[in-house]
Amino acid sequence: MSYARFGWDGSDVYVYESDRGWECCGCISHEQTFGSFTTTDLDAFFAHLDEHRRAGHHVPDNVEPDIRDDLANDPPPWLAAAGSPGGTDEGATT
Ligand SMILES: [Zn+2]
Repeated sequence: MSYARFGWDGSDVYVYESDRGWECCGCISHEQTFGSFTTTDLDAFFAHLDEHRRAGHHVPDNVEPDIRDDLANDPPPWLAAAGSPGGTDEGATT
């Protein structure tokens, strides 16, 4: 599902959960790769959203609470493969 889309509430990010993790699709902070920021590490993803805010991009306030909500009620299947919820990911890259 999508947590934010370009233009929703003036959002500058397109955030959704895919089968690869949480994605910041068409990320304007990583435009050199024309790619998306994708991670299964929640802390890393929230840090990424904070990067956007620091850069002056608008990230709707509902994104983090909505993700936490889904995580609690309907954990994504890849989370079990990536490690236990709340665990640390020593292999994280930026
Ligand atoms: Zn991004």
